[in-house]
Amino acid sequence: MTAARILWLALLASVSAAGGERALVDTSRSPHAVLGMFGLDEVRWNGGLLGGRFDVCRDTMVPHLWTIFRDDQESHAWSNFLIAAGEGRGRDGRFHGPPFNDGDFLKWMEALAQVYAVTRDPALDRQMDAIIATVVKAQREDGYLHTQKIIPQRQGDARAREFEDREHFETYNMGHLMTAACVHHRATGKTTLLAAAKRAADYLERLAREVPDELARNAICPSHYMGVAELHRVTRDPRHLALLRALIELRDRVPGTVVAADQNQDRVPLREARQAVGHAVRANYFYAGLADLLAETGDAGIARALAALSADVSTRKLYLTGMTGALYDGASPDGSARHGSIRTVHQAYGRDHQLPNLTAYNETCATIGYFMWMWRQFAVSGDAGHADLMEQAFYNGVLPGISLEGRHYFYVNPLRRLADFKWPLRWSRTRTPNIKSSFCCPPNVVRTIAEAHNYVYAQSRDAVWVNLYAASTLDAPWPEGGRLRLRQETDYPWDGAVRFVIEAAPAVELALRLRIPGWLAPGGARLRVNGAAVPDPSPGTYAEVRRTWAAGDTVEVALELTPVLLEANPLVEETLNQVALRRGPLVYCVEAADLPEGVRLTDVVLPVAAGRPAFTSERRTIAGAEVVMLTVPALAGGARPWRADELYREVAAEPARSFPLTFTPYFAWGNRGEGDMTVWLPRR
Ligand SMILES: [Zn+2]
Repeated sequence: MTAARILWLALLASVSAAGGERALVDTSRSPHAVLGMFGLDEVRWNGGLLGGRFDVCRDTMVPHLWTIFRDDQESHAWSNFLIAAGEGRGRDGRFHGPPFNDGDFLKWMEALAQVYAVTRDPALDRQMDAIIATVVKAQREDGYLHTQKIIPQRQGDARAREFEDREHFETYNMGHLMTAACVHHRATGKTTLLAAAKRAADYLERLAREVPDELARNAICPSHYMGVAELHRVTRDPRHLALLRALIELRDRVPGTVVAADQNQDRVPLREARQAVGHAVRANYFYAGLADLLAETGDAGIARALAALSADVSTRKLYLTGMTGALYDGASPDGSARHGSIRTVHQAYGRDHQLPNLTAYNETCATIGYFMWMWRQFAVSGDAGHADLMEQAFYNGVLPGISLEGRHYFYVNPLRRLADFKWPLRWSRTRTPNIKSSFCCPPNVVRTIAEAHNYVYAQSRDAVWVNLYAASTLDAPWPEGGRLRLRQETDYPWDGAVRFVIEAAPAVELALRLRIPGWLAPGGARLRVNGAAVPDPSPGTYAEVRRTWAAGDTVEVALELTPVLLEANPLVEETLNQVALRRGPLVYCVEAADLPEGVRLTDVVLPVAAGRPAFTSERRTIAGAEVVMLTVPALAGGARPWRADELYREVAAEPARSFPLTFTPYFAWGNRGEGDMTVWLPRR
């Protein structure tokens, strides 16, 4: 091969600039990715809704989680590491908490590393050094890290054996070690945690060789696919890519065995998967891991499976809020004629169009998994539809997972809450300060908010992509020389006016590719370059402005953020003859706190027969966060109360009273005490 051809291939493979190697997800050298992220600290918020969320994350969410993790009564997660490392006794010298505690602690470490990358606060660096020293000591010599087993093993308990229960999440814990290590390395340049991650990869490599069936059965909630993929992207060691491929191919050893079931997505061979099934966190982590492998290998069978799975979710199984995993408990394949093939599932994808509101499970981690999966689908396709889904899931599915003040969490995320609904469900529909039996969601939502700026822009070889509109600055070296500095001025999502100012640009032609959201009506976007109008861009595409940019150039985008009422496919029984409100990317809801005296939430009806109602908007502050509330005339009927033992009754003519109905952005619900809430309202 000639040197010129090698150089050409290298250029072809390289989708992004040097900063990509310090990206949260580094696809800069992934042969089958078409775009990649900028470096961890190359995008900064400039206030706004998302900048405000980052500030609360840095100042409250991250420090507060450390308080919880260190508290033996509240969590014991940190004590488990201390005991395993021989540095502490915790409550009683024994492991406490769920088996996936280590991984959840390491998610928080990842958030800490991301905050450090942006703030360069030396205290955070020292804090991470101290934590890493203990984590490394807790790890077993051969790379195994799972304090639930390491603690008794070090205390001489011969019965404590690894992988004795597939629900112990060992690969999950080691996966989060790898992801946290990559972010820590990219943020600090240090290799302390990275060395531990490499040892864990060595351990999994040995297992994949020596006991592949055991490893295949135990790949529960497989965060280690994304972890190993990222480790490969740091080390560029072909062994790590081979490990990623092996770990995923191992799954095909499970179908046909007694443990095979939809719950863990291993009933059918992975390339034959066409329907999203089972535990939604596990499913979305698996699909995200598949997309990582696709970016590296271009495997056509995986591409086909992912295209079908992605369409299955977005056209039949996705809540309006971008959430997934409708069921607390169910069966799959539900209704199968082959009765013997049916198994129970929990926190799972249900049937097509099975999207209940009151009992929606929608674990926050499932939305985060979906968000990460959609980023990876976008990275291998450049398809604006996947970026739309990312935005939908982030605003309406990730943000609600933590209270606006940053200390209270949702594990499940219903779209309707009624105090009269008394069926006992496992999880609270009220924000809680701790979730002791399963603390997976809080550090997951905190790391995702800490990292959200990484998703705003993307880069390919000759283009900068704007995926999310948010007040921010992008400042990064350009691979062919020079620097790109771009300021995005906007009050989005409250206002649709966005202005980009080029502050510095490389002396080469490059395209600015602007996402024109698919939720806009035709003609709903306007574009101006240096003050001059250009043809209206089409919703659902990236509008491209290509030129050699100069400092002072401006691009303006105006997006129509009109409130719109939506209806669902009538096969979604739970929303039949109901409507929901969306403005821009934000789904709204009604909370009882905003209803007039004497009006119950279940009595509210929205008159829509005359067309789109006239909404008024008002800025309000909820728990320190500014939001835009929307108000519209509505009716309240049905003053007759229901008896608890009354299932049906005859309809009676009742006068309906008219009143102004106020909507709150869904992400802000549940921040004003307990109360009924609904996203969907009956229409008249
Ligand atoms: Zn969770």
